[in-house]
Amino acid sequence: LTLSYGYAFNEQIVMEAASRLKSLVTEGRQVFQVSPERMAFYMPGCAMEEPFLLCNEIAAVLSPVPMIHAAGCGLGVLNFTGPDKDGDEILKNASIAAACGGMKGTFGVCVFDGEMEAKAERERIIKDEIIASSLDGERSSIFAEFQPIVDLKTGKIRGFEALARMRGPRLGLVPPVEFISLAEELQLIVPLGKRILASACVFLGELKRAGFGYVSCSVNVSALELVRDNFLGDFLTALRERDIPASSLCLEVTESLVAFNFDLINRKLGELRRMGAAVSLDDFGTGQSSFFRARDLNVDYLKIAKDFTDRISASSRSRLVTGDIISMAHKLGYRVIAEGVEHEEQRQYLADHGCDYFQGFLFSRPVPQEEALELVRITNLP
Ligand code: C2E
Ligand code: MG
Ligand code: MG
Repeated sequence: LTLSYGYAFNEQIVMEAASRLKSLVTEGRQVFQVSPERMAFYMPGCAMEEPFLLCNEIAAVLSPVPMIHAAGCGLGVLNFTGPDKDGDEILKNASIAAACGGMKGTFGVCVFDGEMEAKAERERIIKDEIIASSLDGERSSIFAEFQPIVDLKTGKIRGFEALARMRGPRLGLVPPVEFISLAEELQLIVPLGKRILASACVFLGELKRAGFGYVSCSVNVSALELVRDNFLGDFLTALRERDIPASSLCLEVTESLVAFNFDLINRKLGELRRMGAAVSLDDFGTGQSSFFRARDLNVDYLKIAKDFTDRISASSRSRLVTGDIISMAHKLGYRVIAEGVEHEEQRQYLADHGCDYFQGFLFSRPVPQEEALELVRITNLP
């Protein structure tokens, strides 16, 4: 809040909220300001339903203040018994519950439980790791694995997708669905993305040395990276450092990213393609894009989301739209990659319907660089 509107404005909202909340104080209910932006009601010995009634009252007195809606307001309920509880711990847990309430929308309510605390603690550790690795370029807790993208006609590996991994001493392997959004929240997705791009370039260098210079590598980019002014310059610098041609790289963007700011994003994608890089539209079919918009989109590949691949099974073959998506994509001039292929019958269906490439556990999971190189040797050498 402070970052968006400045201190003076922030203070004004807090004062307004405080004076309104004071009107809810009764004999069994005190209110405290526990941090610059948080208030807590303390209701010793209250009945079970009372905190929830209070939440309704809070929403009623605060909702006439327009800026509360702009700033957002979460409500958390914490039950505790016994005198042995530590005050800091109580306030921390109440704050966790309030933050969780805020995620449900303005005046959302959350009741604290132990699971929530564990989740908050896990998030904190992940965030620490993201921060540490963005400060220390040598730190190896965030790294890339590579999953092959296979040509359906020849069975050869056409390229790889670089996928970010996190392994920390305290949490073991953390999946990207957990840490990518946290990196975005921390505004540290840019250094993270650079690290994965650099790993992709190292890998491409190894592939070239081994005689597979025609094998490409894709990296995922998020909106916060792509909209930066320096994105294209940094991208080229990373390639030059390793002497990698832009044509060895493909950038994967999601539909929601494109929808985020169509003209700006599409222009950047156009520039990337002029440099020689390829662009894939990731998770196609899950977002809000549609073919009519796809027509003027600067992409080379559509990656059909795993949801569509999952629907392919022997029994439903005749009713599937996956084949129609492939032929429409081809009419629009895109090549098609199917994601998440796990079963031979899916691969067969895709081959029968003219899909160009597939990616999935059926062929290989994402693997470390050395294993990825070995896979190319085994698969692509005559
Ligand atoms: P994505 O780009 O759509 O990547 C494909 C995901 O599907 C990967 O999950 C991959 O491991 C998984 N996958 C591939 N084949 C199969 C299969 O046959 N079955 C199943 N069940 N899963 C399969 P992963 O590695 O967990 O990545 C999840 C998402 O995180 C990625 O989805 C991507 O959106 C994001 N991500 C990963 N690395 C990066 C990165 O470096 N930067 C950014 N911005 N996002 C990344
Ligand atoms: Mg991807
Ligand atoms: Mg995908």
